[in-house]
Amino acid sequence: MIPVYKPQIHQSERDYVAQAVESTWISSRGEFLDRFEREFPAYLGSKYGIATCNGTVSLHLILEALGIGAGDEVIVPTLTYVASVNAIAYTGATPVFVDAHPEYWNLDPALLEQHITPRTKAIMVVHLYGHSADMDPIMAIAARHGLHVVEDAAEAHAATYRGRIVGTFGIAGSFSFFGNKIITTGEGGMVVTDDEAFMETCRHLRGQGVSPTRTYWHDVIGYNYRMTNLAAAIGVGQLEHIGETLAAKRRIADRYRAALDVVPGVTFQPEMEWATNVYWMVSVLVDPSLRDGLMAFLKENDVDSRPFFYPAHTLPMYPTDARYPVAERIGASGINLPSFPELTDEEIDIVCDLIAKFMQRGPGA
Ligand SMILES: *Cc1c(COP(=O)(O)O)cnc(C)c1O
Repeated sequence: MIPVYKPQIHQSERDYVAQAVESTWISSRGEFLDRFEREFPAYLGSKYGIATCNGTVSLHLILEALGIGAGDEVIVPTLTYVASVNAIAYTGATPVFVDAHPEYWNLDPALLEQHITPRTKAIMVVHLYGHSADMDPIMAIAARHGLHVVEDAAEAHAATYRGRIVGTFGIAGSFSFFGNKIITTGEGGMVVTDDEAFMETCRHLRGQGVSPTRTYWHDVIGYNYRMTNLAAAIGVGQLEHIGETLAAKRRIADRYRAALDVVPGVTFQPEMEWATNVYWMVSVLVDPSLRDGLMAFLKENDVDSRPFFYPAHTLPMYPTDARYPVAERIGASGINLPSFPELTDEEIDIVCDLIAKFMQRGPGA
């Protein structure tokens, strides 16, 4: 079976984890945490990093640090992984959904302003499947209405928008280091920000709201959202290899595109002229009536794949009468193909041949 994803572990991760274990600094302090919190934001071009135990709580931490809570609204694309939306719900605020752009699948800026109300506090932008959202219009609308912009960059490490790395546009960016993300720590996340006071608030909330000067004195209800030094050791090793990982993702996407662009009925993942796509998951759209059949055909031939996320407004926790036709269509059309860095050219060719065969013969193949 060709899997959709598996992390690539290098010798540096093995060495650093062994060093961390040997040092006995295996909990939420240590040399690798310090390094990872310094080196990851530096790589992005951001000032501060607050490492966390996953990308979901990173988002929650940002929203809590912004003081968002019950009675507030946060705008979010409906076509996203559920974590973006759940993080808003955890605060007591209401997620307000926006439809997707038909061409590049992220939040459509043309539809943003109509969702802003006096209760709106922030816009959560998601950079889906490795492709940046269209940040200039979003930042302009946010500035006009005095709203914070929070970036969920869990799927887009090092993706750029007009040459600048995503996660660095708003008050804060959130990253995930889950096992299938572009760099991984097993489970993990990070908040990045240029704002020193905001960084201090995030640190305070991450560590149970404890006073930095008075032991066991807690002045707010905080959280234990810390990352371990063991996880950070993996992260430091992964970061040393991020250039190779991104090059592998580009090789994989280019080879898939060359083969699939000529297959009728298959729409390859976009890369707008203002974006550098990091192709977290190489993705295609097919007619919704063919999607599940194609995935089953791939599986019969030992190729794993994933459907796109269900738009959040279709999930039982977030009922609404509103319709988001673009997100619904893309959600029902999309397939994530095997995308792990060590995927070989031969394996890509096998996947592409199967897709071409299915699309030529149709669901009866
Ligand atoms: C992976 C992911 C997250 C966070 O996931 P964790 O598994 O909690 O690290 C958040 N948003 C999006 C869009 C993601 O893909």
